Amino acid sequence: MKKTNRITVAHGDGIGPEIMDATLRIMDAAEVGLSYDTIEIGEKVYEAGHKSGISPDSWETLRNNGVLLKAPITTPQGGGYKSLNVTIRKSLGLFSNVRPFRAYPPYVPSFFPHMDLVIIRENEEDLYAGIEHQQTSEVVQTLKLISEPGSEKIVRYAFEYARAYGRKKVTCMTKDNIMKHTDGLFHRVFNEVAKEYPDIESDHWIIDIGSAVVAARPESLDVVVTLNLYGDVISDIAAEVAGSVGMAGSANIGMNHSMFEAIHGSAPDIAGQDIANPSGLLNGACMMLVQLGKADKAELIQNAWLKTLEDGIHTADIYRAQRSKEKVGTKAFADAIIERMGQMPNKLKPVKYNSEVSIKVDVKEKPPMKKELVGVDVFIDWRGTDRDPNEIGDRLLNDASTKKLKLKLISNRGVLVFPGGMKETFKTDHWRCRFVNPEGKILQNQDVLDLLASVQAAGFDFIKTEHLYHFDGERGYSLSQGE
Ligand code: NAD
Repeated sequence: MKKTNRITVAHGDGIGPEIMDATLRIMDAAEVGLSYDTIEIGEKVYEAGHKSGISPDSWETLRNNGVLLKAPITTPQGGGYKSLNVTIRKSLGLFSNVRPFRAYPPYVPSFFPHMDLVIIRENEEDLYAGIEHQQTSEVVQTLKLISEPGSEKIVRYAFEYARAYGRKKVTCMTKDNIMKHTDGLFHRVFNEVAKEYPDIESDHWIIDIGSAVVAARPESLDVVVTLNLYGDVISDIAAEVAGSVGMAGSANIGMNHSMFEAIHGSAPDIAGQDIANPSGLLNGACMMLVQLGKADKAELIQNAWLKTLEDGIHTADIYRAQRSKEKVGTKAFADAIIERMGQMPNKLKPVKYNSEVSIKVDVKEKPPMKKELVGVDVFIDWRGTDRDPNEIGDRLLNDASTKKLKLKLISNRGVLVFPGGMKETFKTDHWRCRFVNPEGKILQNQDVLDLLASVQAAGFDFIKTEHLYHFDGERGYSLSQGE
């Protein structure tokens, strides 16, 4: 990642400008040696007609500097506005979202006083590809896309992160007992990469029980690496049980660019009142300093911040009369941290980084696999007479099958309905009809085109196809029930 002394800063919306001012003042007091190019993003930019929340000029600044420190923004509801976070992540290839969650007892109450967990979430793939289609009157679909290089990048990043930050264990979470191909790929890549890091312990949890562990035993976890959607859900659980939604920072890391922020939003309900807690953005900024090779400055700031918490100087969100000493606003909280610059906490564990934290991820392109076409799933929009599977099955078998491709089975929402099937099974207007070569011969695309012509001639409305391939001799598609 680019090591620079010139970064881009965005003050954002709501409490954004207040917490950004506090953060920049603290960084300047620590003499971090950075200069800033300020860009406008968020509400005003959306309202000026830029649907993505950022203007073309700002993009230029962002791309030139490579590093963005960003306060939260307000995303207007409706009106076709796009989430700026998702746009920045995807456009700049920020594949890794790193969220450390630590408890600060007794200054911030937490159910888990020893919790110190880092969630590393894949940031570009999965259901967040946003490729959705309505296929029939009754059925819509979204595509879950997982790539091998995408999985390898994030898994390697997690192990490199564990090494760089002196962590002991990396836990992978997937749902590969159900999604054997997509989540299965991520888990397989994890197992392969883990072998290259014998110094780091590794294990795997199915995401449902894994989420329960995040909620009930987060102290047993160290670094968690997971897919985009699961990471989104479990990081909110982790923030909640750490007791510190206003305290956690987040880093979005790519090969050439990065973006650092707080995990919370723009909190419009408390904007402009000088009461917001700037800790989340400040911790995000410290993650940035570490990445920029200024780990000593991050330590200086975070230890002064911990001392401020210990001294009972608290913003309203964490102030409790019985253990806090003084309730302060955003500015006064920043002043208190600046006054303590150079001091260490006495009770909370001080922050200490390796002097050189450098994370490099190298993913080599692999040669293409041998791909063989062995069949095709044709999806058909059909109701017929009482949605009788035997009616569509018999007609496809007798009228639509070709010499090369013969109907093998039909499923409806993944449940086998022909041949056999149970009359109790609920049937939609969306039928997945699997055609294969009866002798197991390798097929050509022309064979699929011939089949589609035949399906159409038999009076059926096909809505999409999925080819059935073997890759290097291995089946590259899921089997239907009972197949
Ligand atoms: P929020 O995180 O802004 O606020 C949730 C609650 O936490 C509010 O009661 C708020 O007052 C409080 N809170 C949040 N940060 C605080 C802080 N630093 N100090 C003290 N209290 C704090 O979530 P929301 O209300 O759901 O969202 C508000 C807006 O923020 C929405 O437009 C949303 O789209 C946006 N948002 C932006 C980002 C981002 O830019 N990264 C992230 C999440 C939400």
